[in-house]
Amino acid sequence: MPTGIADLRALIRDVADFPKPGIVFKDITPLLGSPPGLALAVEMMVQPFRGTRVDAVVGAESRGFIFGTALASALSVGFVPVRKPGKLPAATRRCEYALEYGTDALEIHADGVRSGQRVILVDDVLATGGTLVACRQLVTDCGATITGIAVLIELVGLGGRARLDGLPVHSVLTY
Ligand code: AMP
Repeated sequence: MPTGIADLRALIRDVADFPKPGIVFKDITPLLGSPPGLALAVEMMVQPFRGTRVDAVVGAESRGFIFGTALASALSVGFVPVRKPGKLPAATRRCEYALEYGTDALEIHADGVRSGQRVILVDDVLATGGTLVACRQLVTDCGATITGIAVLIELVGLGGRARLDGLPVHSVLTY
């Protein structure tokens, strides 16, 4: 039964050259499939935010939904999805961001978070930070305040934390 960081690390599978050559993909599905591993991962992600004021959790599709919803439930607050363009049914705000080649965009429901709310952002992996930077923009455009970020895995060599301008980033596993 997983009881610590080393056990969680053992549940992350490296898949070489996915989705393209040169990328080592951190596959979380063994962890998701382990009841004690999943419970421990969620508890370790949520721990710094217990006892703090959090009004909502925001997570981007698709793996941000998995941990974001779990953390929201653990904190007894709601979950707000950030999605690729055209997926959310009601009025949205959009943020475009640069990729290695070209641009991408993410959207949030315009009424998803409100002015004055204190929000945390959640994702499975912090890599270059592009996704979380876009999420931060969407949330702050809505007038809410981001008090922290929780990720299961931080790929420290890719510099994502530096792009988040001093926002507190809590990562459970670093590589
Ligand atoms: P980024 O915007 O570069 O920080 O990338 C973050 C998103 O891409 C996360 O939502 C991850 O799900 C995914 N991602 C990026 N790099 C990896 C990786 N090496 N292994 C698994 N997922 C990754």
